[in-house]
Amino acid sequence: GLFVGTNAERLAEYKRFAETGKYFGIESHVLSPSEVKDVHPLLRVDDIYGGVYSPGDGTIDPTSICNAYAKASRRFGGGVYENVGVSGIEVEDYLTAGSAPARRIKAVLTACGKRIETPTVVNACGAWANEIAALVGVQIPLKAMKHAMVLTEPIAGMHSGLPNVRDHDLSVYLKTQGDSMAIGGYEQNPEFWPDVDPGFSFGLFELDYDTFGQNLAGHMQRCPVIEETGIKSTVCGPESFTPDHKPLMGPHPGVRGFYHACGFNSMGMMLGGGVGRELTKWILTGSPEVDLFSFDCARFHPESVSDSRWVRDRTHESYAKTYAIVFPHDESLAGRGSRKSALYDELLSRGCVYQARHGFERPGWFVPSSGSQEALSYDFYGAYEEGAWRLGEADHPDIPRHESHEYLDLVEGELTFDWPRSHATVAEECRAAREGVAIFDQSYFGKFYLNGPEADQAVQYLCGADMEGKRIGSVTYTPLCNSRGGVEADLTVTKLQNPKGDNYYYFAAGGNTATKDLAWIRKVLEDQNFDAHIEDHSESMTLISVQGPHSRRLLQSLTDSDMSDASLPFSGAKHLEIAGHPLLVLRLTFVGELGFELHTPAESAVAVYRAVHDAGAKLSELDGIPVRDAGYRAIDSLSAEKNLRHWHADLSNRDTPLEADGSKEGH
Ligand SMILES: Cc1cc2nc3c(=O)[nH]c(=O)nc-3n(C[C@H](O)[C@H](O)[C@H](O)COP(=O)(O)OP(=O)(O)OC[C@H]3O[C@@H](n4cnc5c(N)ncnc54)[C@H](O)[C@@H]3O)c2cc1C
Repeated sequence: GLFVGTNAERLAEYKRFAETGKYFGIESHVLSPSEVKDVHPLLRVDDIYGGVYSPGDGTIDPTSICNAYAKASRRFGGGVYENVGVSGIEVEDYLTAGSAPARRIKAVLTACGKRIETPTVVNACGAWANEIAALVGVQIPLKAMKHAMVLTEPIAGMHSGLPNVRDHDLSVYLKTQGDSMAIGGYEQNPEFWPDVDPGFSFGLFELDYDTFGQNLAGHMQRCPVIEETGIKSTVCGPESFTPDHKPLMGPHPGVRGFYHACGFNSMGMMLGGGVGRELTKWILTGSPEVDLFSFDCARFHPESVSDSRWVRDRTHESYAKTYAIVFPHDESLAGRGSRKSALYDELLSRGCVYQARHGFERPGWFVPSSGSQEALSYDFYGAYEEGAWRLGEADHPDIPRHESHEYLDLVEGELTFDWPRSHATVAEECRAAREGVAIFDQSYFGKFYLNGPEADQAVQYLCGADMEGKRIGSVTYTPLCNSRGGVEADLTVTKLQNPKGDNYYYFAAGGNTATKDLAWIRKVLEDQNFDAHIEDHSESMTLISVQGPHSRRLLQSLTDSDMSDASLPFSGAKHLEIAGHPLLVLRLTFVGELGFELHTPAESAVAVYRAVHDAGAKLSELDGIPVRDAGYRAIDSLSAEKNLRHWHADLSNRDTPLEADGSKEGH
């Protein structure tokens, strides 16, 4: 295909694509405007910066590919039964060996009255996938929408040798269809399909030209001959979209045997084969062979999934930004403020610029300001200033665009492949962590307690690290591995003991993967019949991380408990009090030694944070030591500098701990 870009940043992105292509062995060429014209003479090129061309790209015919799948399935003993709807799914409730309530798939009921006993169901029902999830009593983050393309009359000069074209800046595509074009795009004001009709099968909707008009304007700008070309037919079909424009795959947390392969965001033809192959491995072996966390339905937090407005708004934003440049530091404006730390307001008043990850508002960086830096309610970028009926909600009033939006102004300063506007500020936060003290709110982390008579055996089985004989009050950074030895998760496990003398374990996991990690641990406990269970305390606990060479001195000024290396060595933990509040301190760092994590109940968070902050201010005043609030942008930079791995970026289920050289972690 051929991509054309109309600004310098876009061309920079295309150059990155071309470099990535080299890694995967895909031939591509960055082209000047006149070279673009040579490749596709029907395009207007006087308003473009250039393009990238991949001559080896191909196309597939959707009907043929579906027939091919059906044929292949029959060859392997499968069957295809048409016009037999699923009308019910039986789910069984039971208790695990660790006395945790659990659910599993029992049988499928069909509209023709047949009951099929099975432990496994795959929800591959596209725009109808919510209805199938409802039969199981669960929700998924998916919206049915109307998505369209138009087939033109024949165009002089068109032929099947011309490449498919994408103009990302105009948010449109022009595909070659013999001597015609199939043209479509991602309009800013898409139409939702809320009342999904169970009987609507193999049908199409009437095209709303007002909605599609945005795309047509782009088509005519890029390929002027379209203005004089007739429309042969329209294709406006139902399709399933998700909050991040990626499919939903894998096991549904909490219901054994219920898998998803839906939410294809108009890429199902392209992705279906790979999704099918990897889902099979997932079902048979417990994990896919490639890193599919981006598609894993557990990448969403249950609270976000059950918030229909969050799902709608994020899905709109992802659809409207399908072709937007993917900058390293873009931030979502939709679905903000759904999950917050107990320190949210405190840090906002100190200039925190938040980033939403896994539905959670985590500190990005700090810019002291007089105004409000909070993301405002989602205004759909003004897409529904007129015609909000497209949201599919009865009598929805039109939604005006915010006249001023300080948060958006801040985010726009980050949209570059060069140093973003925040660079110098983030650098100061990093400097505080290296030379003084940086205070991070890492409450975004997942925090779980594992208890039960077989807690020791369960932890030894779960963890890649040898947990046997660990002393009480020790913290272990460990991978959790799948049956191939691949790293499914990496987290810290602290061994603790209750007054009765029973051992229990405190897990702290990266925020983004917390839902997946919890589901993985629950599955292993159940598979192995351990009399142990794990509880999620992520929302009720706060994690204040105090990092930097002067962090010990700062904390020692707040407690009588000995914070020295002898009493609290690296990878040690102890309970103590700060400002009269009990907390668990781990001598641990995500940015490089020296540092401490304060794990406090949420209700103590503000008091503990203020005590730390005030003690830091004194240090600064007395000795000129830099002490600052800092955010995840600094964490990302500092941890990369120390060669600490990020799961899903530097480390995944494809790597074993030996390949990842986990021995370097945390040092
Ligand atoms: C205009 C347009 C252009 C597109 N262009 C592209 C493209 O260029 N490239 C690309 O890769 N993709 C493209 N797509 C997207 C692609 O067509 C979809 O992603 C893909 O068809 C989705 O497949 P699916 O199996 O998830 O859903 P579907 O194909 O919709 O299948 C879901 C099936 O579930 C059935 N079902 C519903 N309820 C039940 C029930 N209770 N029991 C049993 N069955 C049920 C439905 O009848 C339906 O057959 C485009 C889509 C549109 C609309």
